[in-house]
Amino acid sequence: MSDLTRESAARAADLRQSLAAIARNLAWTWIPEMRVPFEMLNAAAYESSNHSVAEVLSAATDLELLEHYGDREFMHALARAEIARDEEMARPSWWRSQFPAAPAPLRIAYLCSEYALHESMPQYAGGLGVLAGDHLKSASELGVPLCAVGLFYTHGYYRQEISVEGVTRVSYPNFEPQRWPLEDTGCSVACPIGRRRVKARIWLAQVGRVPLYLLDANLRANRSEDRELTMGLYKGEPSLRLRQQVLLGVGGVMALQAVGESPTVFHLNEGHAAFAPLQRVAQLVEAGAQPAAAMERVRSSTVFTTHTPVPAGHDRYGVREAVVQLKRVLRSACISPRAFAQMGGEDGVTDAQGGGAAQAGSEATSSCTSAKKPSSICMTALALRLSSRANGVSALHGEVSRKMWQSIRHLDGAPIPIGHVTNGVHVRTWISSQAERFWHEHASIDLREPDPARQGWERAAQVPHAEFWGLRQSHRVRLVHFVRERLVRQSMRRGESELGAFAALQALSTDALTIGFARRFATYKRAGLIFSDIDRLAKLLGNPQRPLQIIFAGKAHPRDEGAQRLAQQVFLMQRDPRMNGRVALIEEYDMHVGRMLTSGCDVWLNNPLRPYEASGTSGMKPPLHGGINCSVLDGWWPEAADGNNGWSLPLAPDELSADEHDAASLYQLLEEHLVPTFYDRGADGLPHRWIEMALASAATIAPVFNTHRMIGDYLREAYLTPTEKQP
Ligand SMILES: *Cc1c(COP(=O)(O)O)cnc(C)c1O
Repeated sequence: MSDLTRESAARAADLRQSLAAIARNLAWTWIPEMRVPFEMLNAAAYESSNHSVAEVLSAATDLELLEHYGDREFMHALARAEIARDEEMARPSWWRSQFPAAPAPLRIAYLCSEYALHESMPQYAGGLGVLAGDHLKSASELGVPLCAVGLFYTHGYYRQEISVEGVTRVSYPNFEPQRWPLEDTGCSVACPIGRRRVKARIWLAQVGRVPLYLLDANLRANRSEDRELTMGLYKGEPSLRLRQQVLLGVGGVMALQAVGESPTVFHLNEGHAAFAPLQRVAQLVEAGAQPAAAMERVRSSTVFTTHTPVPAGHDRYGVREAVVQLKRVLRSACISPRAFAQMGGEDGVTDAQGGGAAQAGSEATSSCTSAKKPSSICMTALALRLSSRANGVSALHGEVSRKMWQSIRHLDGAPIPIGHVTNGVHVRTWISSQAERFWHEHASIDLREPDPARQGWERAAQVPHAEFWGLRQSHRVRLVHFVRERLVRQSMRRGESELGAFAALQALSTDALTIGFARRFATYKRAGLIFSDIDRLAKLLGNPQRPLQIIFAGKAHPRDEGAQRLAQQVFLMQRDPRMNGRVALIEEYDMHVGRMLTSGCDVWLNNPLRPYEASGTSGMKPPLHGGINCSVLDGWWPEAADGNNGWSLPLAPDELSADEHDAASLYQLLEEHLVPTFYDRGADGLPHRWIEMALASAATIAPVFNTHRMIGDYLREAYLTPTEKQP
């Protein structure tokens, strides 16, 4: 080899290493500068891989890298990416300045069954994962000492294709952790599940300053039924799901120990991880602690968040089966099967509506026993009894949960208080670069300021209307182009005529009032509500002077037939001539589709059956781009709505008549308020009243409904125990 080629090879290797180091720090998921070199390296691969920086890098040949080595612009972008990363990692720890009296060794372990970090890593099914990903990102930005545990799913969540008949086709890609921006910790656990010890490798996803450890049981060393444990998300029979949750809880605690973490607080984010405290008790007892004292220590350092009032959203397993799978853990913890059954029992628990109809809708639907049984272990009841602080995810959900679980008492009879911490979104993940620049330029809003109340959002109300309308217009145009491209792709895949693709190219208008509705197709979310009166809707959509258009996206759980029918209904509406080509359904709802929709739509529609939407977070994203919520007073919305920053549907008198009542209110709102306000233009062509509302939406919602504020609440209400928090 000549010196030149040796030198070239070394340069290429050098560059590859620098890029790999950026890719491995998932701060690129919220810092645009860190993604730029990858986009420059191969824009086509960046697009086709759904923005996977790791894919771009592994597809790059040495020759391509060498070419870029000589490119000044590229090397500048690389330098800027490294600076952005290093700055992020060196940010001061905001939380310390806020809680100076907090105990010195604070380390929070966060356990969750799914994490949505980026669209190129589809390890999430919906809101729970998005919330968990956003939680980690804010913890990193604020310097909160937190580590996290989850599972690495070989297939992730399913991929959605809707057929010509509107039937959802499900497929599962195969993900190789080696090809993702993960590090192999070299550590593993041997998790006792039933009679066997299941081996799981521990991958590390470095989320800025927060390490996320992912357990992967898809290893040759395991039997095939054990390899199944981390194959898919919310897939399989209840017995598989039970063993999966043993791996998450018990294996998760073991994994933290294996990598050298010593958490002082454990946060069970949803009941899926409720077995974790049992393993902690087992470890303390094995180390010589008295069982009762060990239990008290574990309880006092465990925080639990419940995420849904939908009955089917709470996993329940037969006591006998659970005891079989947890036998060794229970024995080590000195917990008898009978005591265990009491810990997970739920005598006297009622539904959200005090015994109302069981609503389908959670991912758990039909993969689990949803009915309460006397001899079952309810993961929520177990988590409540094994923690000392518990919360719902909005003020309303806190109230509903207190009622729902009031009969769950500690074994000594003491009541279990349930508070609330309202969810949020990680702003830098969801805001578009253009909107971030806009607010900075016109209102000096600074997203780097750790305290969201001091970022300057109150100044949003003062931005000039013409400039703001330009921002709205350009986001709507971007969305409509994105939707057309997706519709063309979907139409071609379905093998439709060229006419279909041509129609897709012209679908929607860049100037029409645009409503967005994107969320899981769970029945309680009522995606079909707006189609209750087709003629009335057709009049709104087809109005030549004041047109309206609606864009849908969402996945239904493959086994939830009601939800599948909803997806089909929306699909058929898209093709119904009465809808005038003004209804669009985008397949494969993911973080990217979510970002496009929440930034581009003028109105974000949310019409769940109250009170089943525990919080909802998608509605927190549009205000960052001047979008306005139109929502049922459920979840987070009653806390945000002030009459001036969005539209609220009046409360329905009762659950039975809610569909009819809410549909009528929705049409009335659209006809009498939304449409007229949007098209009420001043002499300058601007809808001033609309703009005032949109600016009020940004000014009042953005500074509050974000994960920075949420983490501050968790520190105050849950992570720092009463004796340790500030007076
Ligand atoms: C924001 C978001 C969610 C959560 O939204 P909900 O309001 O809870 O439905 C779910 N999925 C994706 C892809 C999102 O972007």
